Amino acid sequence: MKNLLVMKFGGTSVGSAARMRVAARLAAEERARRPVAVVVSAMSKVTDLLLDAMRHAEAGDRAGMETSLAALRQRHEDACRELLPETRHAAAMAEIHARIAEFERIAEGMAMLNVRPPRSVDEAVATGERLSALLISEYLASEGVPAAVVDAIDVIVTDAVFGNASPLMAPTREKARERVLPLLKKGVLPVITGFNGATADGRPTTLGRGGSDFSASILAAALDASELWIWTDVDGIMSADPKLAPDAAVLDEITYAEAAELAYNGAKVLHARTLAPLIGKGIPVWSKNSFAPEKPGTKIVPTSSAATGARAVTSMANVALVSIEPASPELSAVQVMARAIDAIARVDVEVLVLSSSSYRQNFCFLVREEELERAVEAIEAALALELAHGYVRPVQVDREVGLLAVVGEGMQGKPGLAGRVFTAISRERVNVIAIAQGASEISIAIVVRRDGLEKAVRAVHAECGMGRR
Ligand code: ASP
Ligand code: MG
Repeated sequence: MKNLLVMKFGGTSVGSAARMRVAARLAAEERARRPVAVVVSAMSKVTDLLLDAMRHAEAGDRAGMETSLAALRQRHEDACRELLPETRHAAAMAEIHARIAEFERIAEGMAMLNVRPPRSVDEAVATGERLSALLISEYLASEGVPAAVVDAIDVIVTDAVFGNASPLMAPTREKARERVLPLLKKGVLPVITGFNGATADGRPTTLGRGGSDFSASILAAALDASELWIWTDVDGIMSADPKLAPDAAVLDEITYAEAAELAYNGAKVLHARTLAPLIGKGIPVWSKNSFAPEKPGTKIVPTSSAATGARAVTSMANVALVSIEPASPELSAVQVMARAIDAIARVDVEVLVLSSSSYRQNFCFLVREEELERAVEAIEAALALELAHGYVRPVQVDREVGLLAVVGEGMQGKPGLAGRVFTAISRERVNVIAIAQGASEISIAIVVRRDGLEKAVRAVHAECGMGRR
């Protein structure tokens, strides 16, 4: 749709009645100028609460489950009372209780059977988004802005990977046009739930934690929006985590590729898959702060003419390095590697860095700490025979590591840069354990000793002149 602006509000941007008022005002202001569709996250911490409730349910801990549910009820009832005029309380409360009852029905089933199947989790966990969408839409209506809740179950069509589904763009496009465009044409502001979708045959799915950004970009692409604004609680995408580098600067403009690398390597401001649906569409994305809406934020664009070296440095502390080494020269290290990677891909573990040495034929890869156990189990199962007979040495795990990544399209073909980055790290006496750089030269990933990670981030940030000037 021509001129359409998709606006996505994250959990803190809708975290209370006061924040919802601001969000609604930001949406209404833009709507006075052009069509606007809103995508919302659950109120901050609500998704965690829902997941907790279901964990308690699985464990048969009804008291624990009730505690989480009580907190959930309280949070939304309070927001409702504070947000809406009294005349609307009764109807809105009834809606809130209906959503929560639906959640309880599923959790109750889990408690009865002591199970927590991913399919049922996905059916229940987007309750947070349904509740926040409901409150914001009711509030807009009470302020005279016609609005309607749209459950993304009816719009975003996905594969059946419960908990981390991927969109199927062709059917999503069709449904988005069917469901959302008529509202926009009537002048109704759609308030769409983030995070969720459904398979083609109607089974509810979710897009992974933090997936509402992804929902928003899927919808922006499906509706041919002219812009996507992602509202968070920080000023934009920064050159480093300001907690580690106090002089970190907000970047005015970065490319899709840079933003994707940053998100993938630990920058928290965007969900890593957000930019994928927009590639080829060229829709610009703004990362903006709903707590300081007057600030410009960061503009994310398909390509940039001003390639300016290394733009930002990110880090991840909760990672572990897994090393595998064949013990027998008869064994093809490449084949061992292929089987190990295949095994961890099958259990949905993401390899953050992969590095291999040619002579000793060992190789190592970095995974998130929470996925470590799954990764090691899968590898040990896949290589059970070789391990049992000593053809492959026991799998080594090093948790005392951290990942640092330097990102920037302008690093391409800049010979001295890698050298400067490593010199800066070594000056701090931080040991580099593994290195990976893709042929695209958009990022350099460096695995360092965990206790040197923060120092290394600061050193690289300073060396590359990324900070505020
Ligand atoms: N509410 C979901 C989560 O906490 C999705 C999101 O906030 O983006 O993961
Ligand atoms: Mg988020």
